[in-house]
Amino acid sequence: MDVPKHDVLIVGGGGAGLRAAIAAVEADEHITVGVVSKVYPMRSHTVSAEGGTAAAVREDNTDSHAYDTIKGSDFLADQDAVEIFVKESIDEVIQLEHWGCPWSRDPDGLMSVRTFGGMSVDRTLFCSDKTGFHMLHTLYQTALKYDRIAWYDEWFVTSLLKDDGKICGVTALNVRSGAIDAIPAKAVILCTGGAGKLFAFTTNASIKTGDGMALTYRAGGPLKDMEFVQYHPTGLPGTGILITEASRSEGGHMINREGDRYLSAYTPERMELGPRDMLSRAFIQEMRANRVFEGPYGEYVHLDIRHLGEELIMERLPFVRELATEYVGIDPVYEPIPVRPVVHYMMGGIHTDANAKTPVDGLYAAGEAACVSMNGANRLGSNSLSEIIVFGARSGKAAVEYASEQEFPEANTLSQMAQAEKKRIEEQFLKPRNGNERVATIRRDLQLAMEQGAGIYRTEEEMKTACEAIRKLLKRYEQVEVDDKSSVFNTDLIAALELGYMLDVAEALAHSALLREESRGSHAREDFTTRDDERFLQHSLAYQTPEGPRIEYLPVSITRWQPEERKY
Ligand SMILES: Cc1cc2nc3c(=O)[nH]c(=O)nc-3n(C[C@H](O)[C@H](O)[C@H](O)COP(=O)(O)OP(=O)(O)OC[C@H]3O[C@@H](n4cnc5c(N)ncnc54)[C@H](O)[C@@H]3O)c2cc1C
Repeated sequence: MDVPKHDVLIVGGGGAGLRAAIAAVEADEHITVGVVSKVYPMRSHTVSAEGGTAAAVREDNTDSHAYDTIKGSDFLADQDAVEIFVKESIDEVIQLEHWGCPWSRDPDGLMSVRTFGGMSVDRTLFCSDKTGFHMLHTLYQTALKYDRIAWYDEWFVTSLLKDDGKICGVTALNVRSGAIDAIPAKAVILCTGGAGKLFAFTTNASIKTGDGMALTYRAGGPLKDMEFVQYHPTGLPGTGILITEASRSEGGHMINREGDRYLSAYTPERMELGPRDMLSRAFIQEMRANRVFEGPYGEYVHLDIRHLGEELIMERLPFVRELATEYVGIDPVYEPIPVRPVVHYMMGGIHTDANAKTPVDGLYAAGEAACVSMNGANRLGSNSLSEIIVFGARSGKAAVEYASEQEFPEANTLSQMAQAEKKRIEEQFLKPRNGNERVATIRRDLQLAMEQGAGIYRTEEEMKTACEAIRKLLKRYEQVEVDDKSSVFNTDLIAALELGYMLDVAEALAHSALLREESRGSHAREDFTTRDDERFLQHSLAYQTPEGPRIEYLPVSITRWQPEERKY
């Protein structure tokens, strides 16, 4: 197949990718944009976001949003990036409104807002409890209006192409035909989402395997703050399906086995609306004190929304009712919902500046795949949906500006690179090789190592064990056998390629965690229990080397808010 070339190529059709695509075509009326996505754009993980998106509309101000975000981040967020974020998130949600996003409204017609964990005022806009679905729809229908955006739906990116030190496109597997082609571009934006699938128990869709993070890492770019993994305190036992924070924001209570609203001992001022890292740790403390319930899928506590009444539940939380009824057989109008902490979000990701630029020339990143950083050591709920539109838009504009000064790479060079990639994949995965390893087995062992070594509480010994286990898994991965050798919709091959990405990202994560000898935000160590600003008011940067990750550090940017003790 003859593949066209694009000034800007975006990998990812979620909220960040689609917002980047619209911003890029709007920035310059001549350029063309390609959007590559391994699933149909509307199946991206953004679609499953429930609770809402934060912006300082209504009785609020940007300083308060900034302070809450920075305090929530345990002072690791870059404050210049946060200041951009709080200002531009207002413009972005209004822009979405103009494109048709059906924000829920109060009787007076103003956009409704609810409080999320760690936010001091009501600033989370929502569309009932299907916010991500409506935002993604709005972005998709807007993007479809531009015939200068070309769609590569169900194409899987396998590598970044570099010529003379600059990114000049990607290679991608056309999932439908099995062909591997180069897609040339002057600039590439990675909007590939997070990597929750490094863990077995997660709210994340199975496509969230850290592909863009690994692609950058392999291309020489650093991964920033990878040690910070967000556990969400309310997932359904067994499946890990998320029960949105909106259920607590609307007034739900967390209750232990003794019938107590136990958060009074942990986040007395905010109770159920404390930040996610603290609420997840509170669960573990309750578990250690033997005050949780035991069920067929492990320990849990109760999330009780019965007192909200059926009418409010049906208006504001209908999806919560549906999920609880379908997946645990409990109607929350009449019974409390069993919940436990579950891996939800990666604060870390591809190191970028506030214009989404990475240190690799021609490479940009936005959304959950990127680390700007505005989430620091702990993201506040509802800041991610705003982040993807703010920095998605910024990445689109910045990439167009860069692309306008570049030439397309030589066709010959690109076709040679595509041939080399095709050969690599064929030799490694598609030729009969009697490999004695299976994708599912290595993935299971990886998830086990991550759960044991990079959980809610961490120790040096456990993290070292995880680092060693991942090294061994990388070796075993060389022997992996893909049973399906066919070309059409070869999901076995895709799973093998994704596993390669996951192993690289996991190694960067485990090493970054091991070296951070302090407790900050979601990174809670049993052997270094306090925050150490003297040594670690810094971002970690993980670089790939043949011997394993090399970790460097970068100072945090502080503008107006000095670090202080974090209490709720
Ligand atoms: C269940 C759930 C509920 C959530 N609720 C909220 C909420 O209420 N509020 C909030 O602020 N945040 C919420 N979040 C977090 C938020 O939804 C995500 O962080 C955000 O939507 C990520 O958007 P994204 O565009 O960066 O990535 P995604 O939406 O994950 O999109 C990634 C895209 O990259 C593509 N891709 C990946 N790898 C490849 C590859 N190798 N080749 C080609 N394409 C590739 C995928 O096809 C996809 O299109 C929630 C998350 C979950 C899991």
